[in-house]
Amino acid sequence: MPVLMFIMDGLPDRPVGGKTPLTVAKKPKLDKIAEIGVNGIMDTISPGIRPGSDTSHLALLGYDPYRFYTGRGPIEAAGVGIELKPGDVAFRANFATVVGNGRVFDKVVVDRRAGRIEQTEDLVKALNEIDLDVEFEVARATGHRAVVVFRGISSAELGETDPKVVGEKVKTCKPLNDSARRAAEIVNEFMQKAHEVLDRHPLNLEREKKGLPKANAILLRGAGVMKEIPSFRDKYGLDLAVVSATALIKGVGKIVGGEVFTPAGATGNKKTDLEAKMNAALDLLKKKDVVLLHIKAPDEIGHDRDFDGKVEFLERLDSYLDKILELDFSKNCLIVTSDHSTPVTVGEHTADPVAVSIVHEGVRVDDVKRFTEFDAPKGGLCRIRGMDLLSIALDLLNLSKKFGA
Ligand code: ZN
Ligand code: ZN
Repeated sequence: MPVLMFIMDGLPDRPVGGKTPLTVAKKPKLDKIAEIGVNGIMDTISPGIRPGSDTSHLALLGYDPYRFYTGRGPIEAAGVGIELKPGDVAFRANFATVVGNGRVFDKVVVDRRAGRIEQTEDLVKALNEIDLDVEFEVARATGHRAVVVFRGISSAELGETDPKVVGEKVKTCKPLNDSARRAAEIVNEFMQKAHEVLDRHPLNLEREKKGLPKANAILLRGAGVMKEIPSFRDKYGLDLAVVSATALIKGVGKIVGGEVFTPAGATGNKKTDLEAKMNAALDLLKKKDVVLLHIKAPDEIGHDRDFDGKVEFLERLDSYLDKILELDFSKNCLIVTSDHSTPVTVGEHTADPVAVSIVHEGVRVDDVKRFTEFDAPKGGLCRIRGMDLLSIALDLLNLSKKFGA
């Protein structure tokens, strides 16, 4: 009895002249889903709380983000494939170009992306050979990005070494409380050794010769400590699969013990291969209990404040929903929703509740016939919390346990 959670990241909007991309777009299949389902609106975290995509996805999978959110570092690290253990401290990182004399902290950042360097495999390998008192691991992320995980440094109460702007010196990692002092020392030792290794690395000497900026420092931000998180299987007795091209969402899937899939052609932007993603999700639905299919583009387009772009993407997305509508809803449960709103008028995530439709034989089908921000609140689900979404689906599938006698 599998559940397909179809999450259109940041899709809902605030009205512009009374209209939103969801009311303007021609999307017969999405509307069909609303028509045959039970509808409502959802506060993915809480009314008035602007969700991150990571915190909201945790909530959608039934995990209280206030209890289980690790900060972005560990989620990104898990998303690029590092196996994290409770207590591991992870940073997001980027290769940067620094100039000047002395220690790395005396040098000035002149390019936070090191000329948007792409080939960082050899640099990462060299960094992983650094001799440090504690165990650590560096892994590549996309482009100039990376993650750094320290094991056994016990505290993530650590400041950033990334000054965030060019023209400023690399920051020393500051302990944010007394117990983080030793951890900060280790991070700073890593920063200095990393600079020494990178600055003389053949790849960088080669770049210098070609007039390219050297990727001669690694800047750290977003420290977080991995928590003890019950696995999805332990929590529900079910297997989870996540289909996404976005490291952050893949990371959420990983830290709750899910399996993560990125089909070829999935890009995490509006050019993504929607057919490949649909096929991957529907395939997994035959093997897994819960499949979360994540589509990133609407959020990106919302950040770009592009109303017409959202309409256009939505219409394209709608054209790929046939196979989802062909599912046998006596056996499968379909949830269609979003992790938050990213209104084009704001260009950021907002707390405006999102539309949600649930389709399964036995749902109390309501009068809602269109999937929009305005129609959804008239549906039978009324207003729900993100953390309750999966429980509602599992109850519909008779997979819930009774509370009490
Ligand atoms: Zn999001
Ligand atoms: Zn976003």
